[in-house]
Amino acid sequence: MRKRPPEAMSVDRAGDVPLDFGDEPPGATMTASLRLIEVLRPRFFDRCPICGDPATTEEHVPPQRLGGTKMTRTCERCNHGFGAFVEADLVDWFDGALTVPTLESDAVRGKRQTSRLLLRWTPNEEFVLFVEGGSDPAVREILAAGDVTLEVSLPDKNRWLLALLKSMYLAVCLKVGIPEGEPADLLRAELLAVRNATRKADVPVSAIAHGLTVLRHWGDPISEESVVLAEVQQETGPLLGVLLAGRVFVSLSSTVGDAVPAPTGRLAHQLQVGVPVKGTVASVRPEPPRQSRRTQPD
Ligand SMILES: [Zn+2]
Repeated sequence: MRKRPPEAMSVDRAGDVPLDFGDEPPGATMTASLRLIEVLRPRFFDRCPICGDPATTEEHVPPQRLGGTKMTRTCERCNHGFGAFVEADLVDWFDGALTVPTLESDAVRGKRQTSRLLLRWTPNEEFVLFVEGGSDPAVREILAAGDVTLEVSLPDKNRWLLALLKSMYLAVCLKVGIPEGEPADLLRAELLAVRNATRKADVPVSAIAHGLTVLRHWGDPISEESVVLAEVQQETGPLLGVLLAGRVFVSLSSTVGDAVPAPTGRLAHQLQVGVPVKGTVASVRPEPPRQSRRTQPD
């Protein structure tokens, strides 16, 4: 996501020209050369690869909302614990969404809430916020007034990294079986700490998850497969990892550096709402997956 906070909520009036949103965020571009090595196939174990209990539920790798398919089985606790605690943040990050937005202006008394806002960019580096689904009719009144205070939450980085760590670990299990030894035990301990948290806010900061290299591909998926073993060429040499849903590369190794707790809390922005967009939206990439929006652990 762009470092510079949004400053205005406007795009050029497009007339009859179709609008095309979804170019990658300005300033976030990095070209990485990716080599796809091997498509990983579903593999099922008697026991849960994370905790060792009997494996009773089918597990999507990566989560279904990112386009993952049923690749293995885990126990119900590991499956649902992650669904409830960290996967929503991964989906928000993946969708480029700002959550629990509230809008406020002098025009309407009190704050009004909308559903998620999808942050997208135009080719001339302006940003657009799409309200996903419906919202309070007063929101339109607030926007028409021009000067608006927008408050949003960003996806929690620790939590979405932990969700990716789980997918990466399960991908390793698909390739080599359930790994033994200390590095694997340490990784599993961090995953179990998520599962055993009593609420979202108590999910501990994971040093291993923060040490992962994560690259996000914008635009059409590079591969239609859920999980592909892949290698990225870096200046320091090749980096082995997995490409998830054709769009997210996660390294198989972690630099286990300092786990910096992600900033928490709400961001507030003063916005000047610009001219409303008139025109046809030709496309908004990346497309949120077409499955139902119902929360469903996988
Ligand atoms: Zn388990």
